[in-house]
Amino acid sequence: MNEFDRKIREASGRDLHSAAVQRLQVNVGLRCNLQCRHCHVSGGPNRPEVMAWPTMESILRLLTALPGCQVDITGGAPELNPHFTRFIGELRAAGHPLQVRTNLSVFFEPGMAGLPRFYRNHDVQLVASLPCYLDSNVQAQRGEGVFGQSVSAIRQLNQLGYGIEPERTLSLVYNPGGPFLPPDQTGLEEAYRRELRERHGIEFTRLLTITNMPLGRFLDDLKRQKKDVAYRTLLSEAFNSDTLDGLMCRHQVCVAWDGTLADCDFNLALGLSLDQDLPSHVDQLDLAALTGRRIVTGRHCFGCTAGCGSSCGGALVA
Ligand code: SF4
Ligand code: SF4
Repeated sequence: MNEFDRKIREASGRDLHSAAVQRLQVNVGLRCNLQCRHCHVSGGPNRPEVMAWPTMESILRLLTALPGCQVDITGGAPELNPHFTRFIGELRAAGHPLQVRTNLSVFFEPGMAGLPRFYRNHDVQLVASLPCYLDSNVQAQRGEGVFGQSVSAIRQLNQLGYGIEPERTLSLVYNPGGPFLPPDQTGLEEAYRRELRERHGIEFTRLLTITNMPLGRFLDDLKRQKKDVAYRTLLSEAFNSDTLDGLMCRHQVCVAWDGTLADCDFNLALGLSLDQDLPSHVDQLDLAALTGRRIVTGRHCFGCTAGCGSSCGGALVA
């Protein structure tokens, strides 16, 4: 039993188990136009891992058993998958609520200028990473010019109703610029709203704060600075049992670019499959059988339970 499992048993008297699957998260590949310092999947332009169409077909088949299941598309930059628009079109035709995690700057890659309108026409909700409202901080994490592209992209999206009309949500994602926990989500949202409106005249729906996981490129960075041990200690000492009910692994399952399955995108990045005796590939999956499964955990899980908690949907408790 690992340190996180012991903590969960102390706090709840049992192992971590899932509730019913409400959401399918699909990682369509690790290729990305950026190479952010905090990236837990180490995405980048040279990553060859891209989901093939037959795997997408398996997902579409699987989802026929779960009408109305929300689908959350992530990557990499998901838009760089060559089958991306076809996949979105088929998911929409099947009536699934859709959310895409975009880095915004991908709109400026060759052939991608039509993405904002494509999203609007397919009723896709957007979750866009913007780790700060200041150019210098975004540049430090994501590279030169990315902040300006992000602002231009949000402006285009605002013109299409995103971040303005209630049914076109544009959530922005903050993550810390170093080895520390995010500040209070509500207070930071107010600061983002004020600063982005006053400095750039742009709007968004809500802010999600996400804790940096000690994985991938972020962990490499911590190790280089010899801060990995201190950061892991910070996360484990900030354990908050109130976050347990909302942990995203309890309410979703993830499919990797090659069709393998995991409890969350972080476990995918670590190569941790679902618990033994459960299917390991989307072709074998019966989603209903996943309710109540034991979640596979590791030391990295303290990143989800620290302070106000962290998930793909932001903080877990106020
Ligand atoms: S954090 Fe997102 S945008 Fe940045 S390199 Fe990773 S996948 Fe790409
Ligand atoms: S890292 Fe994944 S498995 Fe671990 S607590 Fe977070 S969501 Fe659950």
